[in-house]
Amino acid sequence: MDWSNWLAEQQLARQKGNLQRNRFAYSGRQGSILSVGESQFINFSSNDYLGLAGHPALSQSLAESAAVNGVGSGASHLVCGHSEIHQQLEAALAAFVGAERVLLLSSGYMANIGLPQALTSRDDLILSDRLNHASLIDGIRLSRAKKRRFRHCDIEHAQLQAEQQKFSRCLVVTDGVFSMDGDIAPIQELRLLSNKNNGLLLVDDAHGLGVVGSGGRGSLYASTAGGEFIDFESVLLMGTLGKAFGCYGAFVAGNANLIEHISQSCRSYIYTTAPPPAIAACALSALELVKQGELTKNLHTNIQYFVSQAKAYDLPILTSSSAIQVLLVGDNIRVMNLSNMLRDKGFLVGAIRPPTVPEGTARLRITLSSTHKVEQIDRLLIELRKAMDDEL
Ligand SMILES: *Cc1c(COP(=O)(O)O)cnc(C)c1O
Repeated sequence: MDWSNWLAEQQLARQKGNLQRNRFAYSGRQGSILSVGESQFINFSSNDYLGLAGHPALSQSLAESAAVNGVGSGASHLVCGHSEIHQQLEAALAAFVGAERVLLLSSGYMANIGLPQALTSRDDLILSDRLNHASLIDGIRLSRAKKRRFRHCDIEHAQLQAEQQKFSRCLVVTDGVFSMDGDIAPIQELRLLSNKNNGLLLVDDAHGLGVVGSGGRGSLYASTAGGEFIDFESVLLMGTLGKAFGCYGAFVAGNANLIEHISQSCRSYIYTTAPPPAIAACALSALELVKQGELTKNLHTNIQYFVSQAKAYDLPILTSSSAIQVLLVGDNIRVMNLSNMLRDKGFLVGAIRPPTVPEGTARLRITLSSTHKVEQIDRLLIELRKAMDDEL
């Protein structure tokens, strides 16, 4: 088959399956109000959970740092691209999450694509939650280890997988807050499982950092009954700076020996240009704002309000105490219809379809921000209830 026929066939298959995705271009700043052409939407679809993406303090840090440090870092961290600002950010993030050492990476995708390979070899086993993020799945594929998936948050199933394999060391991999469901992983139990199997637990906290746990310190602080911290003994945390932190980039946090090994062997750390120092300066300002605590507190007020009102409107949302709230729809066409009906009313809500989620579990993904106003949440829920009633 030649290229043009193949492309046409692929395009047709996407259209038939209602899987075609279209982007639009916004103008101005990212935020809870988004301008698209002449229209303004109330935005319930971004990962900008604390309203930092468009925050003036971050713009100012970026501009000031760029004026002093220029733009490009010029090289990878290990050559000559590691600036004092990168160093400061690593130290500040380590103090924030309570780890010995932090290493910055260019993005969460880059972190996840490199870590499994850097941490395992042929004799090892990787156990991965079935609903882990696509970037983790890709990273695990690149490693030479044996790979087994376990049912979502099912410790017994994970243990069973381990018992059926012969292996030297084990890497247990989980999202902290699951990106398409909003629930929090049973991290304490996963760590016990991991310890039983000569393991290391890797937690991807892209949606937990700044959002859950005391002071927004993430899932390691949110997963215990008393909210006490799970230490970094045999735990590695991956956090991103492009979601609640409103910037761009990612980091891994853990014990010094582990981080040193990653810095020497993670290909997606070594063979790429270090992020611009001004971006690191910007992330430092974001961290200062997160540490003040007000933004995370406001976000939780909104989360609690949304959950209680959604129940009052009898909307079938999944249980979630994170900023990700999910209304399970099932059918791809229905979810597109609902999302289009909401867009007509001026609301942006994510319509999530396979392959991002399992077949038959298409859903509306409503993300909350500290900057949403009560009236905006009220109006969304009213329109959502109407859309679901009209549709039947
Ligand atoms: C967004 C996301 C990533 C990727 O992070 P980027 O910094 O956007 O590349 C990784 N893991 C999870 C769970 C995510 O939601």
